[in-house]
Amino acid sequence: MAVLPIYNCFHPILSKPTKFIDEIDNEIITLANNMLETLHKTGNGIGLAANQVGESKSLIVIDLSAAKEYKNEKPIIMINPIIDSFSDDLVEFEEGCLSVPDFYEKIIRPDAIQVVYYDLKGKEYNISINGLLARVMQHEIDHLNGILFYQRLSLLKRNMTKNKLNKIKNGIILPDYPYVLPDGKLVGQDSN
Ligand code: ZN
Repeated sequence: MAVLPIYNCFHPILSKPTKFIDEIDNEIITLANNMLETLHKTGNGIGLAANQVGESKSLIVIDLSAAKEYKNEKPIIMINPIIDSFSDDLVEFEEGCLSVPDFYEKIIRPDAIQVVYYDLKGKEYNISINGLLARVMQHEIDHLNGILFYQRLSLLKRNMTKNKLNKIKNGIILPDYPYVLPDGKLVGQDSN
């Protein structure tokens, strides 16, 4: 297994929709396992989409166990996830993103979703969920569609955060894990 560098939110791969996976081969299994290892290495990350590690594929990994009240939760690997329906109930919750270091904002999203996906064995799931898991899935599935969470802020909020996002874009704010800047330059590979 390997820890993969995480791509900055302004790298072009993160604004492009990912491709559906046709076949779950060894390459996909290795990628999923490496993504989980990468997620764990960050310490507090709870979800990661494949395009965040430079692979434009419809694959996400989630592990809520970094959040205190979910420490016994098992990791979830989702292939080709699609949200079938959203609840009318909306909730506001502070989100962060491994591609957007040191940036946290409250985002309004539906509280519950119904989602269809496949696991690494190709088994189909059709589940209804709410709370933190539904929140993380919506954030990660947004990534698969080329959407960053700050794009869901109000125009006013977006303007208020512009300076900070520019610092992230220009690599002035950096995370403490290996990271790929918008121009493709890799930084922090040798730290720890
Ligand atoms: Zn994210």
